[in-house]
Amino acid sequence: MSKIEMKTPLVEMNGDEMTRILWQMIKEELLLPYVNLKTEYYDLGLAKRNETNDQITVDAANATKKYGVAVKCATITPNAARMEEYDLKEMWKSPNGTIRAILDGTVFRAPIIVKGIEPNVRSWKKPITLARHAYGDVYKNMEMVIPGPGKVELVYTAEDGTETRELVHNFVGPGVAQGMHNLDNSIESFARSCFNFALDTKQDLWFATKDTISKKYDHHFKDIFQKIYEEEFQAKFKAAGITYFYTLIDDAVARVMKAEGGFIWACKNYDGDVMSDMVSSAFGSLAMMTSVLVSPQGYYEYEAAHGTVQKHYYKHLKGEETSTNSVATIFAWTGALKKRGELDQIPELIEFGENLEKATVETIENGKMTKDLALITSLENPTVLNSRDFILAVKETLEK
Ligand code: NAP
Ligand code: MG
Repeated sequence: MSKIEMKTPLVEMNGDEMTRILWQMIKEELLLPYVNLKTEYYDLGLAKRNETNDQITVDAANATKKYGVAVKCATITPNAARMEEYDLKEMWKSPNGTIRAILDGTVFRAPIIVKGIEPNVRSWKKPITLARHAYGDVYKNMEMVIPGPGKVELVYTAEDGTETRELVHNFVGPGVAQGMHNLDNSIESFARSCFNFALDTKQDLWFATKDTISKKYDHHFKDIFQKIYEEEFQAKFKAAGITYFYTLIDDAVARVMKAEGGFIWACKNYDGDVMSDMVSSAFGSLAMMTSVLVSPQGYYEYEAAHGTVQKHYYKHLKGEETSTNSVATIFAWTGALKKRGELDQIPELIEFGENLEKATVETIENGKMTKDLALITSLENPTVLNSRDFILAVKETLEK
């Protein structure tokens, strides 16, 4: 059987720990035998980031701008313990944060639905995709502990020196205060990414904020979405037979719990952080969650939603057997290959991606899975496989 040829390289970003081990296995067993894999390789493993003063991360993000599609392995975000473990020159920033800042994107996360891993919410039949704005609000805030009586104000000083003031609170005793911001540019690209992703995947788009209480801040998000929808997307949505729907965040939460799924739920940064954990755990497992960063210019970066699975890696280093779930990492590769196939018009590559996804799902539905899933499946007597054997079981299904 001849291998599938690619035209444009994928930007391949390798990562750390257990996911780096899975990365290699997936390439060897599930990709290289079938695809003449063309990639531009960037090693985002922590050692290489340290060696290059993190330039490798910036280069990888810029390569994504050049080629359009990237696939990324989970990476360590250094903390104090990692400084010592890897003898780091600096506490390098989160690679995802660096890449996001360069590509200016929105993160879309969707569960991988498998029979036998039932959502805890009975009405959910189709995936719910969460779109999280990844800039500003409480993540770029400034906070203050107020020790005692006094006045807290918001002051905007224009470039010509004129000041506009709003009283936050006249404190008569101790308390706390917080200031935060967002940018029209960033909200606009968030909106465009969401509308484009809805068109791309032919799903309705929901957006919700707390605009009844936050009459300026949250209302601004609502207005920007509405304006961009009317000016750029309304006609396209109509033609695609999908809808855009804005509601209050409370109402959205209530509706989501009663819905069937099959839509995209756009959330502000904090709502998206919290709600994506709720949605993903209610669907079963973080290891069954895909994640893609979509930029308003149409660059795509695919990854798994989970981290580097450090505990499993330490077991692996000690020579102990691991049963780490590779599904989300496999789907990161298939997502990227399918997108490359679509952009370069290579139907065999799209078909290969789809078949590999089907084989992965079918393997689990046939009762072969890793330990994390075996613990929650409704299938009787599942076969628990180790990390490599699961990948080999997927390969066997794929070959069939
Ligand atoms: P994690 O890697 O997501 O793992 C947390 C726990 O979740 C694991 O110990 C494991 O539970 C379970 N788990 C996660 N993925 C799994 C999988 N594929 N198969 C089976 N079980 C899985 O989070 P972490 O341990 O908090 O973080 C480790 C490193 O990852 C950190 O350095 C962090 O900075 C990094 N991180 C990277 C990304 C990213 O690159 N996107 C995202 C998050 C975290 P059991 O131990 O109970 O089996
Ligand atoms: Mg979170």
